[in-house]
This record gives sequence, structure tokens and C-alpha cells, in this order.
Amino acid sequence: MSINFKELANKYQTPYYVYDFDYITKQYEELKGAFRARKSLIAYAVKANSNLSVIKHLANLGAGADCVSIGEVKRALKVGIPAYKIIFSGVGKIDEEIKQALELDILMINVESDAELNRVELIAKELGKIARISIRINPNIDPQTHPYISTGLHENKFGVDIDTAKRMYIQCKNSENLDPVGMHCHIGSQLTQLQPIKESVKIITDLVRNLKAIKIELSFVDVGGGLGIVYKDEKLIDTNEYAQSILENMFGLDITVVCEPGKFMVGNAGTFVTKVLYEKVNGNKRFVIVDGAMNDLIRPALYNAYHRVEVLNDNQEFSDCNLVGPVCESGDFFAKNIKLQKTQHNDLVAIYSAGAYGFTMSSNYNTRGKVAEIAIENGKDRLIRRRETFEDIIALEEEFIK
Ligand SMILES: *Cc1c(COP(=O)(O)O)cnc(C)c1O
Repeated sequence: MSINFKELANKYQTPYYVYDFDYITKQYEELKGAFRARKSLIAYAVKANSNLSVIKHLANLGAGADCVSIGEVKRALKVGIPAYKIIFSGVGKIDEEIKQALELDILMINVESDAELNRVELIAKELGKIARISIRINPNIDPQTHPYISTGLHENKFGVDIDTAKRMYIQCKNSENLDPVGMHCHIGSQLTQLQPIKESVKIITDLVRNLKAIKIELSFVDVGGGLGIVYKDEKLIDTNEYAQSILENMFGLDITVVCEPGKFMVGNAGTFVTKVLYEKVNGNKRFVIVDGAMNDLIRPALYNAYHRVEVLNDNQEFSDCNLVGPVCESGDFFAKNIKLQKTQHNDLVAIYSAGAYGFTMSSNYNTRGKVAEIAIENGKDRLIRRRETFEDIIALEEEFIK
């Protein structure tokens, strides 16, 4: 993609996020195409980037939504994703969220514990509804990714073990208010190895067959999200091999395959653009200070994540530095010990692969307004979220000052 970051900076100021919607289309079509041999639903994991225009773009392509709060469910519905393509996941659903999910009649609730199943059953009963249930299996498989984004081991809080799941499916079968329709697993994010996915899909499809033998027939196998993207030089999972390794386990089953990509759809579509305020040297350490900060893009601070960085000037004098923001935390950095060229006030810095878990994890720390978000589609830019003002930030407190 060739986006004119400078032009956008003049038009919308900095910092900003810009997303290439054509790239999102390409990612969606690639994954959907890989599953063409089967009924499939690509349920976009909204938490990766929940801007309404991003979700709308995916809705137009035919995507469903995987949501982890009722707020995300409402975002998806608002931009036209039909209820029958919406899944509600998460280890800690609040009663009110479960109630609303049932009233909104979404495709299924991904249940993550037997205690939660009991809650859902009770609430469905009170409402006189039948809750469509999918159970999240924790296959106890190491996804070989960063420990903070690993979710498929028993030591992680997610899902239930096979035996518990079996009991839960039987409970569903025997309940007037529960309808077991799916099985779910999601072992982690930024997966670059196919083997752990293969193993977990094998584990869950074996269980699907076991259940079938006792007359519990599921309609959906939800293999979760987690497909990795390029931040640096990662070798990615080939989407056709990915789909193939899933589909080969489905032989003889009448199942719709669901997958829940978040990062894969939007990660490499997004760039965070900030500008240089100052350079300084402490002792012999060089710092480049920019107007963006950890409250705008927290992944480096939170996961020590790598994002490729580029200073947009023609200077050829490179030297070692830390790229940091203005926030009062030593964790406020985008990159440490990288070679950047000499910069000047107002030079732009592009921080790549920032489309997923960038804006959605941003905050108002240090009373900094959330930044503008811009879409590029067919070579045209448009604002999809305006920059927050001081008034926006204080709006919910002001009336309470005594
Ligand atoms: C976060 C999440 C996803 C998406 O993960 P990515 O790494 O962004 O693809 C999918 N499913 C569930 C249940 C999740 O919690």
C-alpha cells in the first residue's frame, strides 16, 4: 500500500491511525476462499479493532462477528451484521450481558465454565428462551506464542477440559432451555505454527464425533482466531494449509466451520503515525520523543511487542536510540535500541502493523484525547473517528464537581 502519511498529517493532524480497507478486503477474501469447500463463517473478532466503519466494511463482505462483551455485540448489530452471524465469547459474562444476548437472539454463546452454563440456563429459563450453546474447550496445547496471548493451556483461565465439556453437553441435551449447537476452541494469538492448531482441532473434532455417538449433534465447529501477521520477519501460516488442516478433520460431519480472526484481518492494514517533538541525549543514550504515546498504542509496553518503525525523512545519519512518548512512565516506549536517522521537529514517524489491538486498547491516561482514525479505500481517505477533545474527556465528570 502506498499511503501519503504527510498529506493525512496535514489534513487530520497527528497522531492518527490509518487503515487500508482494501487490505482488509484482501485478507477476508483470502480466508473465506480457503474454506470454499465447506460451509463456513468468518466471524471477525471485534476486539482487535472495533471502529464501527471497520466492522461495517467487514459486514459488507459477509463477515460475522465474534464479540467479548455485549457492547461489541451491539456494535456488530448496529452496522448490519445479522444476529445469526454473531457469537458471544469470554470467561466472565455478566448476567445482564447474557440476558441481552438471549433477547437479541444471536447465533450462540461460547460458554467457558460449568458455572456459566448454569447461569445461562437459569437466565434462559426466566426469559422463556432456548439458549444456543457452544462450549469452549481448553485442549491443553501450547500455542508457542507470547505467554500473555496464550490461552489454550490448562494454566490459562480459558475454556474447560474435555471431561467437563462432555458433562456440560449432556446437561445441555437434558435441558429445556439449552440447545448445544457448537464447539469452540481458541488457543492463542499471533500463531505462526500450524501444528498446535492441528492438534487442538483434532481434539475437538474427536469430541464432536463422541457426542454424535450419543445423539448430541452439533452444527458448528469454531476453531477460534489467532492467525499471526508480520511484525518483523515472521513466517506465517499459509491460509490454504490452515483451512486444509481443519477441514481434513471434518470428514463425514455435517458441520459449518467458524473461525474468528481478529489480528489477521486488520493488523497489517493499520499504521500509527506520530510526529517528532524533540531529540535528546541523557549520558550517551539518545531519545527520540514523539507526540504519540503508550496510551495510544500500548503493545510495546504491555507485551514488549515489536513494531517496525520508519522515520519519514531523507536523512542518512543513523544511530542507536529509544523511540518514546511524552507519558510519565518508563514503559512509555515504541521501540528500544533501534537505529533511526537524525530527526527534526515535526518529522513523521510511521509505526507499522498497528491495526489490531492498537486503538482498541488505547486510553485517556495523562488526559490525552484518543487519536483520530482514518480509512483509506480506493485511494480515498475519510475520517472514521474524530480526535477526542478536552471537552470529550471531561464530559462524564464535569456535572459532578461540587
Ligand atoms: C481475541 C480472540 C480472537 C481473535 O484473536 P486474534 O489473535 O486477533 O485473531 C478470537 N476468538 C476469541 C475467543 C478471542 O478471545
